[in-house]
Amino acid sequence: MAKLIVTTSWDDGSILDLKLAQMLTKYGLKGTFYIPKSPKNITPLRKTDIAALAAEHEIGAHTVNHPHLAQIPPAEAKTEIEDSKIYLEEILGKKIKMFSYPFGEYNEAVKTITKDCGFIGARTVKPAQPGDIPDPYEFGITVFASNGRFHEMVKTSPELDWEPKAQKLFDGALQNGGMWHIWGHSWDTDNHKEWDKLERVLKYIANKPGVQYATNGETIGILSGNR
Ligand SMILES: [Zn+2]
Repeated sequence: MAKLIVTTSWDDGSILDLKLAQMLTKYGLKGTFYIPKSPKNITPLRKTDIAALAAEHEIGAHTVNHPHLAQIPPAEAKTEIEDSKIYLEEILGKKIKMFSYPFGEYNEAVKTITKDCGFIGARTVKPAQPGDIPDPYEFGITVFASNGRFHEMVKTSPELDWEPKAQKLFDGALQNGGMWHIWGHSWDTDNHKEWDKLERVLKYIANKPGVQYATNGETIGILSGNR
C-alpha cells in the first residue's frame, strides 16, 4: 500500500477548538488551527488557550478581521495577513508557517502577499489532488466536515452526508496513498450537534499502520520533499 499522510485543519478560533483539539489528541491526530486576530460572532480563544493548543497542534494565521481578501485593496489585504501573523507570533514566540484564506477566497495578488509574508503555504477550500501539491499556496482539502452549503465544493454533492463521504474517500486514500485532509469549524460542529459524528470519523481514520499523521505545515514539508 502506498504511503498516506493524514492532516486536519480547523478555522476561526472558537473557544470550542479546545474541545476539538482534545478529540484529535485522544486519537493521535494532528491539527492546524487557523485563528483570526479578531473573530466575529463566536466566543474566541484566549491567548492562553492559543498557547495551550500550540503545545499539541499547529497554529496558523487567518487574517485580523476575516475579510474577503480578493475584494479589498492589496495594501489592506497585506495588513490583514501580516498583522495576523505577527499577532500569533507574539503570543507563541515562534514563527507561524501556515495561512488559510477566509472563505477560501484568493487571487494571484493575495497569493503573492502570503508568500512574501513568509508563510510556507496557504490552505484553500478546493479539493486537493491526491499525492500532489502543484502549489503550496493553494493547499487543498479532501473532505469538509459539514453538510453546510456555505462553500462551493460542498454544493457539488449535497446528497451525500459528510460522514460516509469521509469514510469512502479515506478508504480510497489508504489504497492509493498521498494526502487525506479533513477541514471544518468547531462552531459549525457544535451548531449542528455533530460532535459524535466527528468523533466517529476521527476514530475511523486514526491509528492506521503506515499512515503518517501530520499538521498542515508538516504535510507541505513532507510532500515538497517528495517532489
Ligand atoms: Zn474562516
